Amino acid sequence: MMNKHQNIAIFIPHAGCPYQCAFCNQRIITGQEQLPHAKEIKTICSQAMTAIKNRSDTEIAFFGGSFTAIPESYMLELLQSAQEFIGKNRFSGIRISTRPDCITPQILKLLKNYHVTSIELGAQSLSDKVLNANQRGHTAQDIIYASALIKEYGFSLGLQIMIGLYQSTWDDEMKSFNKLCEIHPDTVRIYPVVILKNTRLAELYQSGEYQLFPFSEVVKFCASEMRILHEENISVIKCGLHASEFVEHDMIAGYYHPAFRELCESEIYQLRMETAIAVQSGQIRNRMRKNKIQQADEWTKDRIFAVHPSCISKAAGHKKSNLRWFAEQYGIKIKITGDASLALYQVKLLE
Ligand code: SF4
Repeated sequence: MMNKHQNIAIFIPHAGCPYQCAFCNQRIITGQEQLPHAKEIKTICSQAMTAIKNRSDTEIAFFGGSFTAIPESYMLELLQSAQEFIGKNRFSGIRISTRPDCITPQILKLLKNYHVTSIELGAQSLSDKVLNANQRGHTAQDIIYASALIKEYGFSLGLQIMIGLYQSTWDDEMKSFNKLCEIHPDTVRIYPVVILKNTRLAELYQSGEYQLFPFSEVVKFCASEMRILHEENISVIKCGLHASEFVEHDMIAGYYHPAFRELCESEIYQLRMETAIAVQSGQIRNRMRKNKIQQADEWTKDRIFAVHPSCISKAAGHKKSNLRWFAEQYGIKIKITGDASLALYQVKLLE
């Protein structure tokens, strides 16, 4: 049930990028400034060959900068150095991340020749207003065009999106997400905005010009995106910036939590369990959740739910927050057990 895919992540910090997006401080995100060269790539891949058993589900991933915008000689050096580690009994291919406006048919042909299998685009938003306000330097149409080209050439397509950028409204977020679903990438990374020092967003935030959505609303929104993407069979490979001492040290505000994804998945389970009880007791949920479900005798009963065994802690909530929530909202105790026949996010009300 769980995705076994993994990456050997090699970071290429800010290499060759002529832009300065309002949110970006690549040195902080990757935690390094040195560019890796062939020797380091070979050392990393050799060590991974020994350490990783499941190599056919593993890609060598060049992340962090705009891979197809770096000087061609450096790009070829990186690609070339990884070749001997790809193939039978070795890793499955190469994964790269880049900007939507740095994709052309010529580049895709070159990447194919070097066993690149997956391309992730830093889309961030599919609203031109939001892209422009955050100095991205490309349009939503660039994302749509590059995505179509990547699919046409047979690569796996990943899109990275950010939630809560400067000047984005909830309406922009919803429209942007609908467009992302229409593109139907294979994978998505959801990054709620984290405001880092020495960025344009930091200036805008500190001057009061940029105001953030409430954290809890962002968690709810990301949870609903995760649920819909799961239903659309699009894999969410990341939700929330990865926990790192660099980010924690250099952020000044934003939607950061070391277990952000777990918060979202807890929210999905909370909603699913609440809905299951409401359906069982024949009540209609208040769609906006402004009020709790009208309480009837049925609601005073404690409940037992089954979820997939690997999801018991998600269903219980971050630090058991869902169990506390049901106790506070409805005065009932929830018990959760495992059932391996259930899918991710599926809940079964046992009694
Ligand atoms: S294009 Fe990427 S690397 Fe360049 S400034 Fe923007 S986010 Fe940073």
